[in-house]
Amino acid sequence: MVRVVLIGAGHSNLQALRMLHERRSKSPTWGSVEICVISPSDRAWYSGMVPAIVARLRSAEEGWVDVSTVCRACNAQFIQGEVVSLNPVQNTLQYRTVVDSLGVPAPGVDAGAVHAEIAYDIVSIDIGSTTAFSSLVESRRCAILDDSDSSCPSLVFSTRPIGAVHSVLEQFEQRLAQFVMKRQQQQRMQLNVVIVGGGNAALEMSLVLNARFQKCVREMLRLPSLHTADAGARSGSSSDGVDVSVRVVFPGSANNIPYAIAREFKTLGISVLEHARFIGISEESNHARVHVRSACNGVGDAYALRFDVLCLATGPCPHAVQQNLSVPLDDNGWILVNDFLQSPSFPNVFASGDCISMLGRTGCPIPKAGVYAVKQGHYIARNIWHFIHGNGLEAYVPQRRFMQLICCGNGRAVYAPHPRLQLNNAAIGTLKNWLDDSWIRQFRFKE
Ligand SMILES: Cc1cc2nc3c(=O)[nH]c(=O)nc-3n(C[C@H](O)[C@H](O)[C@H](O)COP(=O)(O)OP(=O)(O)OC[C@H]3O[C@@H](n4cnc5c(N)ncnc54)[C@H](O)[C@@H]3O)c2cc1C
Repeated sequence: MVRVVLIGAGHSNLQALRMLHERRSKSPTWGSVEICVISPSDRAWYSGMVPAIVARLRSAEEGWVDVSTVCRACNAQFIQGEVVSLNPVQNTLQYRTVVDSLGVPAPGVDAGAVHAEIAYDIVSIDIGSTTAFSSLVESRRCAILDDSDSSCPSLVFSTRPIGAVHSVLEQFEQRLAQFVMKRQQQQRMQLNVVIVGGGNAALEMSLVLNARFQKCVREMLRLPSLHTADAGARSGSSSDGVDVSVRVVFPGSANNIPYAIAREFKTLGISVLEHARFIGISEESNHARVHVRSACNGVGDAYALRFDVLCLATGPCPHAVQQNLSVPLDDNGWILVNDFLQSPSFPNVFASGDCISMLGRTGCPIPKAGVYAVKQGHYIARNIWHFIHGNGLEAYVPQRRFMQLICCGNGRAVYAPHPRLQLNNAAIGTLKNWLDDSWIRQFRFKE
């Protein structure tokens, strides 16, 4: 019997699970390979769909895969737990099962508490990534959940892990709605949304958070809803009482923002504070502020922007647990792999997705994108199968570029494969939906 353990139900491991199951079910010796998946949540989110869910263009149910159902359909064991360490010399891993409704360890749980151990013959690590400010986000997340506070709630969240974004926004809106109900005299509502980041995720989150909070505030004030085409309504002050201001704290020059997105920002009234760096947050007499240093033309100015919602889209960072996996890491803490997505020191340890360190054909690190993780999942499945049968492994060659479709939050999407060729329209929005649906459909099993 060979036991294959998949750590993390990420894009890559899910793809690998489905393909491994297909191969195994066609093999006369299929009973000799046992598959186990360990992941903290039974929901695996499809990243491409999350922005449309944030904008409330699609329902949350459309964007996640039920890991336990997929495991049952693929004849695999599912353990809802978080891996805390790996011993690749003894081929064992340790995990704990204490998680809350968001699939992350409950506050106060001892980080070293190990609940169980499992032995493996082959392991595949696909645990995604987090952000640089995860501890700040964690401490603030407890504040949203604490509804004893009667002041207007404020929210700090990060875009990674992407699976937590939807639940955190829902919880925040419930708190906000309670606050608005308590103050029934409220005629107008002002919401300051600040997004920090310089990549496509930050630009996309600015568009979809604008759309979401325009809708959300209208609902809370019981104003008539907008047509879908107007859903990404203009940010800033409006005559009917909805004041949603959206601001991007952007590290580079605003001229570097892709043309089609800059046009959307202009139409929607989303403002950009360019050459600006996030320093931290502070809270003074019920007002939360984000502190920013701007360095335009070499002159540094410090700003304090008031916020109700702060979204940190500051790029990927490795999960702290990677330090406890006892496999070689690069200088930044990402897992080193060879061309076969195998640890250079432990041939039975495979890794893929955001958590790995790999250079592309141009010599630059490959983007941390779901598209790459999904493709790697195909190689993980094939190479695990070859490894079990003693065959040569297949080298993974990352694609040069990928199709970037950015959701605008109003039914349109931006097609940005090349800085000069950018289109935004509803047809591209439809194409994006179709592509997202096709991937998710593979994992919709009827029970
Ligand atoms: C706003 C935004 C929009 C994006 N849009 C796109 C897009 O349109 N297209 C695209 O290609 N990419 C997009 N990305 C990037 C994409 O989200 C990531 O690259 C992708 O999620 C990485 O997939 P993964 O397989 O590495 O891990 P993930 O899909 O993130 O999954 C990691 C899994 O590991 C689990 N896990 C974590 N820690 C542990 C542990 N200790 N033990 C066990 N399990 C664990 C998690 O719960 C999760 O199930 C976007 C990112 C952001 C922030």
